[in-house]
Amino acid sequence: MTTRLVDGFGREITYVRLSVTDRCDFRCVYCMSEDMQFLPRQQVLSLEEIYRVGKAFVDMGVTKLRLTGGEPLIRPNILLLVEKLAALPGLRELTLTTNGSQLARLAQPLRNAGLNRINISLDSLKADKFRAITRTGNLDEVLAGIDAANAAGFQRTKLNAVILRGRNDDEILPLVDYARQRLLDLSFIEEMPLGNISEHDRANTYISSEEIRQRIAQRYPLLPATDQTGGPSRYWRMGDSGSRLGFISPHSHNFCGSCNRVRVTVEGRLLLCLGNEHSVDLKQVLRANPDDDVAVRDAIVAALPLKPERHYFNLEEEPQIVRFMNMTGG
Ligand code: SAM
Ligand code: SF4
Repeated sequence: MTTRLVDGFGREITYVRLSVTDRCDFRCVYCMSEDMQFLPRQQVLSLEEIYRVGKAFVDMGVTKLRLTGGEPLIRPNILLLVEKLAALPGLRELTLTTNGSQLARLAQPLRNAGLNRINISLDSLKADKFRAITRTGNLDEVLAGIDAANAAGFQRTKLNAVILRGRNDDEILPLVDYARQRLLDLSFIEEMPLGNISEHDRANTYISSEEIRQRIAQRYPLLPATDQTGGPSRYWRMGDSGSRLGFISPHSHNFCGSCNRVRVTVEGRLLLCLGNEHSVDLKQVLRANPDDDVAVRDAIVAALPLKPERHYFNLEEEPQIVRFMNMTGG
């Protein structure tokens, strides 16, 4: 297939995040409200439909797919989807973002099914604080999941931590030490104003990547890493460790110029930008054309001119984006 996915600003799309469920066993305070309404089943893409979307993208030059959610590992039969996507010719990397709650059980089967890499979210190493941030999560299960991912032989497993001032900013260095001891990469994510949450005021909890980086640099001198991903992460190395530190800064660092990615929600909405509402309904195309993947590819190509040049996040205003992060697929 020769079609390449290039948007109106000359950016080639090579990376797609597929959300496989909006549901989750956690209710992280920055991501969800306590009483979430989840989508009725008929509005959610089937695993076969998600596969068709992934295949359409890979047929048009996408080389990296990430499965996310919600919590992707609570979707029944997720291993079957991983196995089918991993076998797509042309796909270089199949990855997954998870809260880790199911990994003790699933890390090895995921590896066997062809998954290449895993990102695991971890915001605290203290059981009570972990529970307070996730509202329902069990720290020991997640730590066992991280060990299982290492034992299964995944390389460059990355931890993701959302740091909230006054909440878990005292755990920045303990998280760095935990990652160093296990040779894991670790990214710090600035909280994004996605969805109306009432649990805290995001303007009070905001802490910039630069402040986090400076706090770490007081203990471990940081050297800029040369390998960048074309995404929002900027990476640093520590001279005495193989672990890399990443900083994902949607507020303080504008990465839109090199954006190479789009997202597909579990309802089949193709989102052209995390920080904007521009989207196209692929579910309707999938269901109207059950045997015709050309129609799916055509719909994706036709959507690309909608990709905006950049996003704007402003903590002082009401969120312009009303969807929650679990809908978007982080
Ligand atoms: N459930 C999986 C997990 O937690 O890793 C995958 C989905 S989750 C939406 C993906 C990532 O988004 C997680 O690392 C989470 O911490 C992050 N996230 C969720 N809400 C966020 C927000 N409002 N701002 C920044 N990051 C957020
Ligand atoms: Fe669930 Fe991930 Fe959102 Fe936490 S961040 S509530 S684990 S989807």
